[in-house]
Amino acid sequence: MSVTSHRLILPPVYRQLVSDSRDLQQLLKQVESKLCKARTKSGQPWRKLTEVELIAGKVHVFLSSIREDGSSGCWEWTAGRNLPPSLPYGRFKFHWRECKAHNFSYALFEGPIPDGLLVCHKCDNPKCVRPDHLFLGTPLDNVRDCHSKGRQSKEYSQLLNRFGDKNGNAKLSELDAISILSKLKSGIKPMKLAATYGVTVGSIYHLRSGFTWQNLASHRV
Ligand SMILES: [Zn+2]
Repeated sequence: MSVTSHRLILPPVYRQLVSDSRDLQQLLKQVESKLCKARTKSGQPWRKLTEVELIAGKVHVFLSSIREDGSSGCWEWTAGRNLPPSLPYGRFKFHWRECKAHNFSYALFEGPIPDGLLVCHKCDNPKCVRPDHLFLGTPLDNVRDCHSKGRQSKEYSQLLNRFGDKNGNAKLSELDAISILSKLKSGIKPMKLAATYGVTVGSIYHLRSGFTWQNLASHRV
């Protein structure tokens, strides 16, 4: 199964900015040491930021958006969330595009996320971005993991919906999904289709982007 949409590859300089430490304060200090000093001193002449300074600024924003949970050790994302609206994952803007914060964390600390794999949580906390609480799995592993952990919440029903109408939570049949994709291509608006098929507009967007119904990739081209 291939997941083609959001492959996240960071240039090596990103990973060089963070050590193996899992001490947030220490990591922040390391990154701060690479930030542009001119920003903190007034009266310095303007100069163009170096690549490392720019990247350090980005990584600093990322690390500053995390709060460590004292009991679980989870690094909880405190900035923007709700991507997609029904899932409580953090979101982070990178190269003018939003990505899931835990995906960014994995790419930053561990390396590229191979095609077809997802970043899953060992700790069962969707807000967590701590790299050693994350692991790579197939989409199916992720669903099995949800089942084994007994997740029954609405959010995880949405995750299970990704695997189509064999799942009891899916609201659309495969035929409906194919029909919707064809209507989207012909220019019919998601909002209208949502009303016609009795689902949320978000479900239509997820179907269109391939977040759900990944098996219908051939109908999206
Ligand atoms: Zn965690």
